Amino acid sequence: MAPAAPPAIALVAHDARKAALVDWVGDHLARLAGRPLVATGTTGARILEAHPALDLVRLKSGPLGGDQQLGAMIAEGRLAALIFFVDPLTPMPHDVDVKALTRLAEVYDLPMALNRATADLVIAGL
Ligand code: PGA
Repeated sequence: MAPAAPPAIALVAHDARKAALVDWVGDHLARLAGRPLVATGTTGARILEAHPALDLVRLKSGPLGGDQQLGAMIAEGRLAALIFFVDPLTPMPHDVDVKALTRLAEVYDLPMALNRATADLVIAGL
């Protein structure tokens, strides 16, 4: 049997927060480089555009199932942390998916950061 892959750090940002997440990744490149990363589709594209050398797998876009793919990874023990820069000011048509994802992070006691200040603490503690 192949050895299990090490758990990945998941990166997600709503549209208004994508630039902030790309900046945050740049600030923590030394810690993120060489670690398995996974991101929803559009977030992942923006991160890879700025940091093409990262070991990052892109899932589907969040509203098209990417959030639920991440939820499945949490349930399977395949994530080490969820960094999710949410936009608290804009209603989202896929709010139920966002809720389901953050709920599973709570259920499985996964380190989860919903803003930059917490993301700094999580990445320092991993
Ligand atoms: P996206 O999805 O990275 O494909 O934009 C993020 C989300 O809105 O959940």
